[in-house]
Amino acid sequence: MYPWLTDSFKQLSFRVGSKKLHHAMLIQGPTGIGKAYFTQKLAQLLLCANRQQDKVCGACQPCSLYKSGTHPDLHLVESEKQIGVDQIREAIKKLTGSAQMSGAKVLIIQQADTMTESSANALLKTLEEPTQHTYLLLTTDKPQKILPTIKSRCEKLVLPSPSLDMTINWVTRYYDGYVDRNFAKLYANRPLALLAELEQEPALSFADFSQGLEQLISGQKTVLNLATVWQEHIEKVLKWLQFWVREQFNRVDLNADLLLIINEKAVNVSKVMQNPGVNKLLVLAELLTQVQNVKK
Ligand SMILES: [Zn+2]
Repeated sequence: MYPWLTDSFKQLSFRVGSKKLHHAMLIQGPTGIGKAYFTQKLAQLLLCANRQQDKVCGACQPCSLYKSGTHPDLHLVESEKQIGVDQIREAIKKLTGSAQMSGAKVLIIQQADTMTESSANALLKTLEEPTQHTYLLLTTDKPQKILPTIKSRCEKLVLPSPSLDMTINWVTRYYDGYVDRNFAKLYANRPLALLAELEQEPALSFADFSQGLEQLISGQKTVLNLATVWQEHIEKVLKWLQFWVREQFNRVDLNADLLLIINEKAVNVSKVMQNPGVNKLLVLAELLTQVQNVKK
């Protein structure tokens, strides 16, 4: 288990052991802290025939089936975009009747906030009157998008985020390169998101980005140089720009009022990026022109 989730997992496993786990859990937390893994491990714990507190045996038949991804009483619903009503109906059908392995039945719904309204309504009855030994484990990073009728039938569990130090320590274990503390702040307390970003070896790195801004300010690069290259990564650039601005406020050589304006503009531009027909080069050039003038 991830070190920042160990305590939460132990607490739940204690309740699993004393058969006091609520049959419907809504597991919440930001993207990149390990909700999916946490939920899968909880499912394995519920299914294992010889569990010991928070440990699964790893050797029983349910554990072997879990590991091969073929446990007949473990069902997963997820979708890239939207969880449709048919997916939910099909999952509920699998939960009816007794468990094939004579243990628990578990349904995991990842990113439950992507359920449509009819999907959520289709799930209500099962949430209210689950079949015996059935557990529904829902995860979300957008609890505000979950219908109140669903929320009220689940027990809420908010997973804790790690500190920045813990995030860096953990990422350093898995990533060979240097982990910049400022860059890590950008993915504050979301270690898996940070690791994914680092391992991606992005076409535009944060180091290149901040260096580009410094070169722009000192006149070594032009607005058009940067905007042309960066327009392909505009969403990332806008996010990074807001972060970069916040980090510059203690600099005496820069105009703090202008920094504030740049930040505000970057936030506003981020909001309109979803609109079709936005001229990325133009909006980026306008923003970078402000950055170019930020030196006192
Ligand atoms: Zn086992």
